[in-house]
Amino acid sequence: MTDKTLQPVLNRLYAADVHDKADIEYALSLKDQAQIAELFAFADEIRRRHVGDGILLRGLVEFSNNCDNTCKYCGLNKTNTNLARYKLTDRQILNCIEQIANAGIGTVVLQSGEQADLDADWLAGIIREIKIRFDIAVTLSVGEKSREDYALWKNAGADRYLLKIETTNRQLYQNLHPQITLDNRLRCSRDLKTLGYQNGSGSIIGLPGQTISDIADDILFFAREQFDMIGIGPFIPHPATALSDCPPGNVELVLKTIAVTRIITKDTHLPATTAIGSVNGNDYRPDALMAGANVLMPNFTPQPWRQLYEIYPGKRCSTEAPGSCGPCIDMMANVIGRTIDLSRGDSLKKKRKECA
Ligand code: SF4
Repeated sequence: MTDKTLQPVLNRLYAADVHDKADIEYALSLKDQAQIAELFAFADEIRRRHVGDGILLRGLVEFSNNCDNTCKYCGLNKTNTNLARYKLTDRQILNCIEQIANAGIGTVVLQSGEQADLDADWLAGIIREIKIRFDIAVTLSVGEKSREDYALWKNAGADRYLLKIETTNRQLYQNLHPQITLDNRLRCSRDLKTLGYQNGSGSIIGLPGQTISDIADDILFFAREQFDMIGIGPFIPHPATALSDCPPGNVELVLKTIAVTRIITKDTHLPATTAIGSVNGNDYRPDALMAGANVLMPNFTPQPWRQLYEIYPGKRCSTEAPGSCGPCIDMMANVIGRTIDLSRGDSLKKKRKECA
């Protein structure tokens, strides 16, 4: 039976061109379990209607854990001097891509910490080599860079870029990122969009000091900017950071944020993030997939380096071998009655615009 108070809110969130922040806050603040179940079921139906039943796979390669930044929630921040740092060789990176291509997966994500001295020409060369050897979409996630670097990589063949906003609350952003600014992140995101990348953003839920109003603002930002991909995951405290004593993000709130984001953004690709698969030692990725998410990111970073890409502790699959995610992912899809989609999984928003 549908809830008479909630149903009109959900209908408005889905149908409105301009969203009422009070509606978003209402949905995020639900406490009654029957209402929360109804929110998730509604989001799941919107997911089915706009992106289908396929779970898209993105093969992840964490090619370096070097980082110049001091983001207060992240175990890779440069003040963590206990962490051994690595960068994979060209051959190691290309071996990972080969494994991803051999698994039939249509997208690779090349991820690293943010480094001022990352050699842009070197990365362009890697992208070109991937494009020559494999029929695969390339997503980059290497942080804030100049427009020139982004253009170089786009021209080399990169298709997509992930640069999460983390939080749109200016004060909170500044507290968490002493070295970087929200304005520059927004500039990067605009550059990526105008250069023709399929553009990704996302947020962390449960950051110390974050409110429901902040999360609602993040969702409104996602809707305004029309991102092609949005990754939403919980804050998980890392012992080697300034936030080590803070509690992790609330799983239910993460799932509600995914659900509302699905309802509002409709055909955006939303991953069930590794973080939601790792919080409190549990795997909530199936729950995320049933609350609006449609993407999984199996990790192909080789051992022993994979264990050193520790943004937060207890990261799922950090001790497993590359390629071992297949059976687990198949089973997850099976249990929730979904299928695995190995295609490139390009932006549906972009496709829609091209067809208009
Ligand atoms: S979140 Fe990214 S940029 Fe910030 S410290 Fe971690 S790896 Fe570096």
